[in-house]
Amino acid sequence: MPSEFALIERFFRRPTRHTVLGVGDDGALIAPSAGHELVVSTDLLVEDTHFLAGAEPEALGWKTLAVNLSDMAAMGALPRWALLAAALPAPDVDWIESFARGFFDCADHHGVDLIGGDTTRGPRSFCVTILGEVPAGHALRRDGAKAGDSIWMSGRPGLAALGLAQLQGRCVLAEAFARSCLTALHRPQPRVALGLALRGIAGSAIDVSDGLLADLGHVLEKSGVAARLQIPDLPPAGLERDCLLAGGDDYELVFTAAASRDREVGLLADRLELPLTRIGEIRVGPPGELVLCDDAGAVVTPSHRGYDHFTPRLP
Ligand code: ADP
Ligand code: MG
Repeated sequence: MPSEFALIERFFRRPTRHTVLGVGDDGALIAPSAGHELVVSTDLLVEDTHFLAGAEPEALGWKTLAVNLSDMAAMGALPRWALLAAALPAPDVDWIESFARGFFDCADHHGVDLIGGDTTRGPRSFCVTILGEVPAGHALRRDGAKAGDSIWMSGRPGLAALGLAQLQGRCVLAEAFARSCLTALHRPQPRVALGLALRGIAGSAIDVSDGLLADLGHVLEKSGVAARLQIPDLPPAGLERDCLLAGGDDYELVFTAAASRDREVGLLADRLELPLTRIGEIRVGPPGELVLCDDAGAVVTPSHRGYDHFTPRLP
């Protein structure tokens, strides 16, 4: 049976690209670029809460890093370094090898160095701490939305929640659509390129991890503003609408930008080949108030806003 140190050496120590000292010492050494701020974030994935027991390890490795990259994207940061703390029930070499393949596939894709971590026996869980860089003063924060701004979303949130509903037998989707929903659930694409491109354009941004309405609500509260939403092609009341409005796990970005930048955002969508949809506007009003309208302009009352670990209700 391999030791803890043999596992780290074999699976988690890789050559680094931009690190002074990586895995293997008591701490890593990094040299941030001059004139930049470090953006730091951490995310914990726990079996049976964030992923199902029996989840495919390669996809899980990808997702473990991807959800952290999404936080970097939402800050407009260039992701640079990550640390991985892993609890594993047993040193199952095949399982860990697949997990590491998925993790480093995502890391290589985004130029991130794994510079350290911790490995321990325990119920399966993974905690990544990620560090990125942003030119000082240029981070995309939650408190920068202003009355009159347009509200935008990337992609189509809700697919991951529909994929989960399909897995749990709560719905039956057409085959090709089910495949794209399951890909969204298992292999989310963090919108890092979008986050970088939004520096200097967006006033605020957040990634949709808990649900579109819930996450946009955080922006409204932090910015002290209200919003009117009119999402094009809002599905009729039912699971698909609930997943779009309140489904977690998509890792799309929601951002605000002055209405005078609408055309620029449209051009960005073309350049990044990523749908960017204007879904409403920021208004003066009670902080956090969110009025949702259908395509015809009639007010809609959503049945869910998003996921909360201590009051969990799935759409
Ligand atoms: P310490 O006892 O000082 O905490 P460890 O023995 O836990 O050090 O870890 C040895 C080295 O391996 C450290 O550099 C640590 O950051 C790194 N490391 C441990 N687990 C992982 C992991 N899962 N992924 C990447 N690096 C790891
Ligand atoms: Mg340790």
